[in-house]
Amino acid sequence: MTQKVQTLLIFGASGDLTARLLLPGLAQLLTAQPERRLRLIGAGGVEWTDDEWRKVVTTSFAEVNASGAAIDALMASTTYVYADVTDPAELQKLIDLADGTPAIYFALPPAVAAKVVVSLQKVTFPAGLTLALEKPFGMDVPSAMALNGELAKLVPENQIHRVDHFLGRSTIFNILGLRFANRIFEPVWNSEHIAKIDVVYDEQLGLEGRAGYYDTAGALVDMIQSHLLQVMAVLAMEPPSTLGQDDLRDAKEIVLRATRLWNDDPKQSSHRARYTSGTIDGRTLPSYVDEKGVDPARETETLAEVTLEISTWRWKGVPITLRSGKALGERRREIVITFKPANQLPVGLTGESSPTVLRLYVAPDAMSLEIDINGPGDPYELERASLEATFGDGQLLAYREVLAGILDGDPTLSVRGDSAVEGWRILAPVIAAWKADEVPLEDYAAGSEGPDAWDQVG
Ligand code: NDP
Repeated sequence: MTQKVQTLLIFGASGDLTARLLLPGLAQLLTAQPERRLRLIGAGGVEWTDDEWRKVVTTSFAEVNASGAAIDALMASTTYVYADVTDPAELQKLIDLADGTPAIYFALPPAVAAKVVVSLQKVTFPAGLTLALEKPFGMDVPSAMALNGELAKLVPENQIHRVDHFLGRSTIFNILGLRFANRIFEPVWNSEHIAKIDVVYDEQLGLEGRAGYYDTAGALVDMIQSHLLQVMAVLAMEPPSTLGQDDLRDAKEIVLRATRLWNDDPKQSSHRARYTSGTIDGRTLPSYVDEKGVDPARETETLAEVTLEISTWRWKGVPITLRSGKALGERRREIVITFKPANQLPVGLTGESSPTVLRLYVAPDAMSLEIDINGPGDPYELERASLEATFGDGQLLAYREVLAGILDGDPTLSVRGDSAVEGWRILAPVIAAWKADEVPLEDYAAGSEGPDAWDQVG
């Protein structure tokens, strides 16, 4: 049955996020759900005609082979408005264009999005309005709290989606299934059995022309403050009784509230570095500081590593290292859970015993469980074996899940206001120590594994 028409207003529709991630995600959702009827209104700072906008939409939709009745209906009705969305009068006009209760996606620079939130207070809109905001949400604890306060003047918390698209990734769903649908993992998922956890998201890509955003954010804010802390929260949370928005988000928030820097010491528990020129897979990258638009005086890190502790009965004493960077030699996206050594080996078993390691790979999703067994040669000698599995085909785009949550009014997979603030609270001592130059900004050649002196993660 065809559904009632909804409207999605994308503010910042002329930008990179819209074309590269939002529109393909939307197309995948509508292709899978042809009964949806969605009116799409783009508003942006580039003076496009409706036809030019439609070309942008068509190109992005083609990437995922979009088709079906919902796509046709959207293409027939989508429009674009060249507007300054910080202006209350223009905002009012845009909201008045919507059919039914709209959802607004802020695909805008964060400072502009914050201004729009204030301008919306001067506008009349339907009570069910949904607001979706991108990361970074604020730039520190006070600004995130202030933005939460301004949003609260507009709509209730469950109509606010602080998007963290990592929460829409199949990896997150796989962690839930692995941990909570199998008897063998949960009993050992604690400090009695786990020695350390590493969450690594190393990319081979360099800046790729995104200095405007990245040079003011850096690896810590771009990746760790949002995505990797959220992954950690799902990995470490107590089993929720339901996956409803309150239970899941409460469970994550409890983890984040209990998280602090390892030994409360930003100097020992954080590292930062910036890439110099080098070669990755035959591609030569210039030094980060020579990339177009970079201001070297900002001392922006392109590789960040932070070690944390979750001060709860379950996790006390387990170091959790979150690491992410650009221009590295190897693309490594994985969660590495290293177990403690066996309590006692029977006398007579020879060879080297290594701890069991569980690796959960991200995009493409897979896992390996590295264990010691008796080798095929000497039956009393330990050898290493790896049990490998791939999880599905991982075809679903994270932004499809994000947009489904927004259009269905289900904020389960978005970040709640208190958790957004906790992310900044956890990392505030690191940001302060880096600003005060108490942690050196090291160098690594593009294409390397990062600075030699850093401990190996994973
Ligand atoms: P862009 O700078 O590419 O796009 C922002 C768009 O907003 C531009 O087209 C800009 O138009 C428009 N804009 C700015 N001010 C106004 C205004 N007052 N009225 C109307 N339009 C305006 O940024 P991105 O798309 O890359 O990022 C948007 C958000 O998404 C950011 O918060 C970013 O952190 C987040 N994000 C981006 C990702 C990405 O891969 N791009 C990934 C994850 C999150 P103009 O410049 O002509 O003014």
